[in-house]
Amino acid sequence: MGEILVLVDHADGVVRKPALELLTLARRIGEPSAVVLGAGSAAADIAAKAAEFGAAKVYVADAAEFADQLVVPKVDALTQVAKAAGAAAVLVTSSGEGKEIAARVALRLGSGIITDAVDLEAGDGGPVATQSVFAASFQVKSKVSHGTPVITVKPNSTSPEAAPAAGAVENVTVEFTGNAAKVVARTPRVSSGRPELTEAAIVVSGGRGVGAATGFGVVEELADSLGAAVGASRAAVDAGWYPHSNQVGQTGKQVSPQLYVAAGISGAIQHRAGMQTSKTIVAINKDPEAPIFELVDYGVVGDLFAVLPQLTAEVKSRKG
Ligand SMILES: Cc1cc2nc3c(=O)[nH]c(=O)nc-3n(C[C@H](O)[C@H](O)[C@H](O)COP(=O)(O)OP(=O)(O)OC[C@H]3O[C@@H](n4cnc5c(N)ncnc54)[C@H](O)[C@@H]3O)c2cc1C
Repeated sequence: MGEILVLVDHADGVVRKPALELLTLARRIGEPSAVVLGAGSAAADIAAKAAEFGAAKVYVADAAEFADQLVVPKVDALTQVAKAAGAAAVLVTSSGEGKEIAARVALRLGSGIITDAVDLEAGDGGPVATQSVFAASFQVKSKVSHGTPVITVKPNSTSPEAAPAAGAVENVTVEFTGNAAKVVARTPRVSSGRPELTEAAIVVSGGRGVGAATGFGVVEELADSLGAAVGASRAAVDAGWYPHSNQVGQTGKQVSPQLYVAAGISGAIQHRAGMQTSKTIVAINKDPEAPIFELVDYGVVGDLFAVLPQLTAEVKSRKG
């Protein structure tokens, strides 16, 4: 079976969930190998985690360049490993950074690239990727016809499943090409204490129906009672009520949690494109004709300012 390279996304010494999803998908199309870059002293723990999820080999490279420069050092490393290993495919998480790395690696390898895949399967002559296009109205299957396929996969495309493998560590010395944009300052993001939107098991989102920035208070209180992330429709974001980084939809983030709660959101196709693969969908809307009700598992026709606080109180009382 061909070697499938998975670029392991990590933060603060911990493997991010989308990387475990990639390793799970990689096992369907070949033999996964993890690539761990710039992890410092956390590399051993990250390698062990990758092995737990099926990595037969773990390529580890560490150098100051990974922290001091933007994507180019990672592109150098991934291209070098892909060439040396004769990789059958390269998988990268579909984040902003991931897609930039993937595009540059594909260019360097002279290969085709597929972005934003939501599924992968083995096919004749290489992996077949499924993409969800035109606001999730169509599913497209495609295959790279030239070179080593480079594929970016959206977070939450599958559930990570452990499948312990050898995880033999191979340290790699990267020859950096230089000429990269340098990081000159870092400002830590103020933590909301909530899970990352694209990785959360539960998402509670507010739309124009919350009426004002302060209206998000009831949304946040429900989210916190459930340990959920907070999302927002574009109408709420454009009104300046919630940060753009929390927008769910076609031009925002794609989420696929176990539970998605939409409060005061009408259910426009562009919003649905970012959440309709959620496992259970609940909507609260005062308009019984709102299109979101076509999509939901449970719908409440009512004023969100009356419904959400009751829901929050009920969740809290059940938690004791
Ligand atoms: C190219 C393009 C890309 C786009 N990308 C996105 C995207 O990524 N994400 C996105 O969300 N949108 C996106 N949009 C915008 C999208 O078309 C809609 O305009 C937007 O989703 C509407 O947001 P909303 O549902 O919050 O607002 P509205 O459509 O105005 O709906 C508000 C809802 O709240 C209900 N409501 C009002 N008050 C209450 C209350 N007190 N209690 C309960 N319910 C109440 C109303 O009945 C209504 O159904 C995009 C549009 C375009 C053209």
